Amino acid sequence: MRGYVLHGRGDASFGEIQVPPLGPYDALVRTTAVATCTTDVHMINAAPYPNAIGKPLGHEGVGVVEKVGDLVRDFTPGDRVILSAGGADWRIPQAQRGEAKYYPNNMPYFSEDPLQGGVFAEYVRALDADMSMAPIPDGVSDEQALMVPDMVATAFTGVERMQIEFGDIVAVLGVGPVGLMGVAGAALKGASRIIVIGSRPKTLDLARRYGATDVIDYKQGPVVDQVLALTGGVPVDSVLVASGGSASDQFTAAFRIVKPGGHIANVSLYYEDTVTLPMDALSYGGIEKFFTGVFVQTGREFYTRLLRLIEQNRLDPTGLITHRFDGWDELPEALDLMRSRNPDVIKPIVTV
Ligand SMILES: [Zn+2]
Repeated sequence: MRGYVLHGRGDASFGEIQVPPLGPYDALVRTTAVATCTTDVHMINAAPYPNAIGKPLGHEGVGVVEKVGDLVRDFTPGDRVILSAGGADWRIPQAQRGEAKYYPNNMPYFSEDPLQGGVFAEYVRALDADMSMAPIPDGVSDEQALMVPDMVATAFTGVERMQIEFGDIVAVLGVGPVGLMGVAGAALKGASRIIVIGSRPKTLDLARRYGATDVIDYKQGPVVDQVLALTGGVPVDSVLVASGGSASDQFTAAFRIVKPGGHIANVSLYYEDTVTLPMDALSYGGIEKFFTGVFVQTGREFYTRLLRLIEQNRLDPTGLITHRFDGWDELPEALDLMRSRNPDVIKPIVTV
């Protein structure tokens, strides 16, 4: 079968690869749509995980079940499913205390199994299908479902860490696709005022559609001053960090605008070696402010709840999709868009 394989740093291309073998708990899924992600671009540029080399890239995909292993209970060929973006191992004891995702050795990028690859391939093996995949309801389109495994799931995991209560004032730093879903999630959680910090007009407009009450252009002045000017100097209850740029700058801004006792959830991946935080932003170490580095929640139960929000018209993530491609041959173009820094690109998808 065909797959878009990472060969090494700066080197990825289509190649012929082996259809993965099927274990008793696994499903073989024929990919029908994939999305490209800034993480894919980083994977190609830096090849940070040795176990990912030689395998197909990609972690945002939906498909149709082709075959199932003998011990799969709840899926049959023909089912439309979400493929997992992460690799929680649901059969380790730690899973029983909700910690499955902290041991992600099933993740294609980390797995030592050379045949456990990403979703940029004609077929994907879903390990432990009953636990890792989610059936897509009839009322949910492939495009909607495709935004779930990373964009919605990452943002909503972060939003859960913000501990939002009704009427809270929250800030979302960065309005890429995950930040935008963070806005939608904060609105669903009952935030009253959602202050969004970005600069691209297209994404700031979309942020308003997803529930932002105030938008700030960080190019118009220091973020902290702009946020506090909006709130009359009152710090916000919680912050979602979903921005690019420098981790030190973003975390400093977050700590400066969040209240004592407030929560900061970071959903961005930064690749700096060190972070510098001014001590006054941490109140010289003497005031409680909570910071969580967020790793996406995966699994059938979580995906099913997110899909239910879409099915019941509480959420439509397709506003993120700015570019649509048709066929595997156009995948490199969809990846180029993620590299382009074109301000109109939010999320490209490829239907195959
Ligand atoms: Zn992604």
